[in-house]
Amino acid sequence: MRALIVLLILAALGWWSLPWIKQHLPARFNPFTPLAVTDPPGWVTRYKLKRLETHPEACLDVMRRAEQAGYVTFSARPDVTGACPLNHPLRIQRFGSVSLSSSFLASCPMAVASTMYVLRSQRRLQQLQPALSLARINHVGSYACRNIYHRAEGRLSEHASAEAWDVTGFQLRNGERLDVGKNWTEPENKALLLHQLWQEGCNNFGNALGPDYNAAHASHFHFGMRGAGYCR
Ligand SMILES: [Zn+2]
Repeated sequence: MRALIVLLILAALGWWSLPWIKQHLPARFNPFTPLAVTDPPGWVTRYKLKRLETHPEACLDVMRRAEQAGYVTFSARPDVTGACPLNHPLRIQRFGSVSLSSSFLASCPMAVASTMYVLRSQRRLQQLQPALSLARINHVGSYACRNIYHRAEGRLSEHASAEAWDVTGFQLRNGERLDVGKNWTEPENKALLLHQLWQEGCNNFGNALGPDYNAAHASHFHFGMRGAGYCR
C-alpha cells in the first residue's frame, strides 16, 4: 500500500513537471523537441531517432533542415513495391563537402543516422589532428533485396529495407586513403583512424560490424539500424 502511494506521488510529480521540462530543458536533452543532426550522441538522441521510424513526415523534416544547413544533399524517391518494399526512401548524393563513390538509397531514419555519422566523424578526426578531414566515402551500397549473408532462407537483411550501409573506405583531404580491407590492422596510423571511424559508427547506428566481427565483414563496415548500439 505504502509503495503504491509513493508511486502515485512520483507519477503526479512527473506529470506536473512535464511543462517545465518541455520549456526549460536544452533541445539536445529534451525528448520533446525535434531531432537535429547536430544533436550530441546519447540516449535522448537515440530515442528521437527510433521515433522517426514511425513518423515519416517528421523524419523528412529533419533531413530538409539538415540539407538547408549544408550537411547533406538528397532527393526524395518514389516508394518501391515488391518483395522488399520501401516507403519514402531517400537518395543520398553527398554529405556537405564529403562526396560519395556513388549515391545510395536509404530509409529516412538511416539517412539521418548517416548524416550524423559523417558530421561526427569529421569532428572526431579533427580532434585527433586539426588538419584531418574526410573528402570522400567509398561504399558498396545500401539497398539489396536479400536475406542476411545472401542465404537462400532465413530472415531478410537490413539491406532489404535500405536500413544498412556498407562502407569500404575513406579518402582524406590530404590525399591519404583508408581502406577497410587493407588497413584495419596496418599501418598503425591508418589502422588507428579506421578504428576511430568504426567506433563512431557505434554511436550513430543501431549496429556497427567490422573486420573483427567475422570474415564476411573483412573488407567493409556494416552500419545498420537494428539494435541500440551493438558494436562488434
Ligand atoms: Zn551490410
